[in-house]
Amino acid sequence: MIVIYPGSFDPVTYGHIDIIDRCSKKFSKVVVSVLNNRSKKNMFSIDERVKLLKEVLKEYDNVEIDTFSGLLVDYAKEKKCNKVIRGLRAVSDFEYEMQMALVNKKLDDEFETFFMVARGRYAYLSSSIVKEIATFGGNISCFVPKVVENAINEKIGGGY
Ligand code: ADP
Repeated sequence: MIVIYPGSFDPVTYGHIDIIDRCSKKFSKVVVSVLNNRSKKNMFSIDERVKLLKEVLKEYDNVEIDTFSGLLVDYAKEKKCNKVIRGLRAVSDFEYEMQMALVNKKLDDEFETFFMVARGRYAYLSSSIVKEIATFGGNISCFVPKVVENAINEKIGGGY
């Protein structure tokens, strides 16, 4: 079974990597799909986000990195895969995720959303919090791999 794991990944964190690692063991293939959302203010361009994902996931033979824009259901149809994984960290994620899952189901009845519960030690972790900590000079090495940490610090040093 092939699954799509969509998200902003701006940038990828250990929380995302844990979900991908667990999915790669349960499904035959995981397509990590980076949302190309021009209206959202991202720290990293789509190419930079893809590059970081490829770097940190290079050991996984059954993980592919892709990009998409527009509706997830249309992208899923194009990929001929109607199963999507979303991570749930807290009850606060649940409301939005439930709404998205129901809307996507309404748009395409064949579309299925699977939720994977965050590991306790990553349940507080988001890309936004990592960027915020780094902006204030905090140590982010326990939240993201070294290559991502360096990329964030470069952005901040460059006056992001
Ligand atoms: P964020 O910017 O909040 O980190 P993304 O859009 O990049 O979010 O997240 C993609 C998916 O990964 C979402 O389903 C999100 O809930 C999930 N996710 C993000 N961080 C974690 C985490 N620490 N543990 C588990 N799932 C996560």
